[in-house]
Amino acid sequence: MKNFSLKQSRQLFERAKAVIPAGIYGHQNPGFFVEGEFPTFLSKAQGCRVEDPDGNRYIDLLCAFGPMVVGYRNEMVEAAAMAQAAATDVGNLPAPVMVELAEKLVAITPGADWAVFAKTGSDVTSWSLAIARETTGRDLIVMVDGAYHGVHGWCNLRHRGFPAAERALVLNLPWNDLDAARKLFVADGHRIAGLITTPFRHEAGADSVMPAEGYLQGLRQLCSESGSLLIVDDVRAGFRMHMGGSTQTLGVTPDLLLYAKALSNGRALSAMLGANRTRKAVEDVFVTGTTFTQAEPMAAALATLQQLESLDAIAFMERIGRRLCDGLQQRATAAGLAVTLSGPAAIPFMTFAADQGSFVRSRSFAAAWARAGVFVHPYHNWFVSAAHQDQDIDEALAAAEQAFAATALAHGPDQ
Ligand code: PMP
Repeated sequence: MKNFSLKQSRQLFERAKAVIPAGIYGHQNPGFFVEGEFPTFLSKAQGCRVEDPDGNRYIDLLCAFGPMVVGYRNEMVEAAAMAQAAATDVGNLPAPVMVELAEKLVAITPGADWAVFAKTGSDVTSWSLAIARETTGRDLIVMVDGAYHGVHGWCNLRHRGFPAAERALVLNLPWNDLDAARKLFVADGHRIAGLITTPFRHEAGADSVMPAEGYLQGLRQLCSESGSLLIVDDVRAGFRMHMGGSTQTLGVTPDLLLYAKALSNGRALSAMLGANRTRKAVEDVFVTGTTFTQAEPMAAALATLQQLESLDAIAFMERIGRRLCDGLQQRATAAGLAVTLSGPAAIPFMTFAADQGSFVRSRSFAAAWARAGVFVHPYHNWFVSAAHQDQDIDEALAAAEQAFAATALAHGPDQ
């Protein structure tokens, strides 16, 4: 590999700062990575590999924060998208592909009778609240404390720029605490329009936490008993745990299911799915957008779903993710470092026990792994894809040996 340099990245970021507030806003700002140790821009992507403007190449285990699920520039997805774009894309009216995609999603999703489309995860999380309120005629929404559902006022975790009044009708619940949920429903059940949850707890800056036994089933029951809607935000986990919605791994069917990210392998598309009970509300609530019915991402989504099915991608990603996690665990132990691998195998995350939440070793490790040719995030969970092959994982693990050694050298092995 050529010498690792970030000169072009640094120069581009200086230019960016002059004309774009913060240079890069949101979660891609260098401050969210290890500043000065990661590229600030990426200029090429193919399969499971990405390249930065300095020509450094990486095996990508962040997958664009989730969207890349069958490989960057996947041939079949690109061909379908290009053919659709050549025919029609954003138009006066939707293209027929919208019907095909809705039919496909309804066919593969237990409990879904309809699908509607938007662009971002935030679009559909906020839209789902309106559908829950319109369906039930109630006003309260329950969400898990600290959960990420996007950037709109009702759930923005930073709170700045959005008045507290926007959160006034949102109640918070601790994750995995069914007793707390029961109490809340006893007190306010008659006012709760919907409870929104992710299939597992995956906030940045913490180990992922799977649902405790009976927890999601218990929430399902509480919602059913009180006439509230269970909304599953599958924006991040969707199509990496189950093709019919991630909570199907536990036999839990939500009233509203929300997708974005992996649905179209990275093109701008999100979806909300539901049953006939909520159909009228979707007809009555006026939500739309100039590009919500854009055809190209829908063609990409159909091709992505076909690829996921024909590659048996859920089982494949589980296997390849397990190989990655086991390999990391082994190599960390060999380097004298205790690590915790959490989350489903296809959406893994790793922290260092000795960090005790400081992420000091996580930062060293992520920076050293990037230098050795693997792109992950120190604070945010990672993703594997159907484009990662065994040899990619082996290469990433060989590079991890160097990264663990560098981390042990910088901070000492655990006592
Ligand atoms: N919900 C979850 C669970 C997410 O992970 C995200 C994005 N990380 C969102 C909602 C918001 O999606 P978007 O960034 O497309 O608005």
